[in-house]
Amino acid sequence: MSIGFEKIRVRFAPSPTGFLHVGGARTAIFNWLFAHKTGGKFLLRIEDTDVQRSGLDEVDAIIQGLQWLGLDWDEEIIYQSQRLQIYRKYIDELLLSGKAYKCFCSKDEIERQRQKAADEKRDFRYRLNRTCLKRSNEEIVAFEREGRLFAVRFKLPEGETVFTDHVYGEIKVDHQQLDDFIILRSDGYPTYHFAVVIDDSEMGISHIIRGDDHLSNTPKHILLYEALGKQPPVFVHVPLILGPDKQRLSKRHGATAVGEYEKAGYLPETVCNFLSLLGWSSGDDREIFSREELIREFSLEGISKKSAVFDEQKLEWMNGQYIMALSDERLLELVQPRLIAAGLLTQADIEKDKERILKILALLKPRLKRLSEVPEICSYFFEKPQAYDEKGMRKHWRAADVEEKLERLRTAFGKVTDFTTAGLEPVLRELCEGLDLSAAKLIHPLRLALTGRTFSPGIFEVMALLGKEVVLERIAAAIEFIQKNPVEVNALT
Ligand code: GLU
Repeated sequence: MSIGFEKIRVRFAPSPTGFLHVGGARTAIFNWLFAHKTGGKFLLRIEDTDVQRSGLDEVDAIIQGLQWLGLDWDEEIIYQSQRLQIYRKYIDELLLSGKAYKCFCSKDEIERQRQKAADEKRDFRYRLNRTCLKRSNEEIVAFEREGRLFAVRFKLPEGETVFTDHVYGEIKVDHQQLDDFIILRSDGYPTYHFAVVIDDSEMGISHIIRGDDHLSNTPKHILLYEALGKQPPVFVHVPLILGPDKQRLSKRHGATAVGEYEKAGYLPETVCNFLSLLGWSSGDDREIFSREELIREFSLEGISKKSAVFDEQKLEWMNGQYIMALSDERLLELVQPRLIAAGLLTQADIEKDKERILKILALLKPRLKRLSEVPEICSYFFEKPQAYDEKGMRKHWRAADVEEKLERLRTAFGKVTDFTTAGLEPVLRELCEGLDLSAAKLIHPLRLALTGRTFSPGIFEVMALLGKEVVLERIAAAIEFIQKNPVEVNALT
């Protein structure tokens, strides 16, 4: 646990890039769980000092993503763009104490020096020359009078920085590898390294849990904490998320924005559960954790150094498990907007036909992996088939006597008074016996006639939910289609 911090305070500090990346969401989840586990506070800070890239929409996308995941924050959101004066105050403090200095070198000049070093096959380090540190006070004052822009560089001390990361253990960095890094850009904005240290320190952050792509930045941050006489927090760097090819997860692998998973019909519970297992484990091989269980089980000790692989199939499987556990009513609530948007039903239809729709959803639930599949897999319950599956026609409708079979089914079902699964099944079985056919020989052509497809839930359940009138109509329509399109049906080879 951290020394010197009375309370546990953690934060998620996204740069607003227009969407919440799954890696960012995973970081947010770890922070949120840690805060909830320890009775600490989870804070949100928007790192929007890159004015070009940070608009309000970009910030909204992140906030919405967090809200969708149910990751609420405990205090007002901090925006770095509103804290420029605070950074300035600390910059002045470092300038005054000689721990930082103004650098008037233009980008072009730095580039020239970099090029020269490259030509001479040396590494470029500004600190080797420290051109601007050597300037006299008069020169500096004159430059400023002229209105020349300057950046502020941190004056790197000699030696090495050693710190212990909670996950990676002791890390030692020789300052030879570092440079006099910029802490204030010439546009007046602080760099990430500076703002992050000032904010974390002012916000009383006790633990920084973030992606290990920031591990190499941490020595710079520690140097700044030391220069400012502030207590560094505990650092917890979490391993990268990789795609199945073991490369860093990127667009190339598929969706990387949380919003895309929402659109695709994943439940927030699934995404939270799934992401929390990327780089963390409870110690056993359990995979399904409710939010309460995650809070109970989460610990920083369970975070591993090993990169985690984003396995979309596992995510799908997990979503199926969560969907299965939903009540039919809740499932309807969740898919209602999708059914309406697909033009299958109106709000009024849903109210009128609710009982039947609930039964349809109950029937589909065991096969569902994503909510977005629902309109497509259940459309035939609400509208007649738009087309018949070609392969299905080739396989099940080519027999010369298929119309006759369908006609027999229609007549038999027309006489059924108990139009339920239990009432329908014996009727078809009896017909099969009479014709000396296997049930499949009638069920497949029938399924195609009723649904237009070769796959559906049990055909008797489907029929019961379609109702007698629709079933008879669809069989008749299929017979008519076969009669009118003998060439099409027969030409299928
Ligand atoms: N804005 C940084 C990022 O999005 C935050 C890094 C940190 O947590 O310190 O990567």
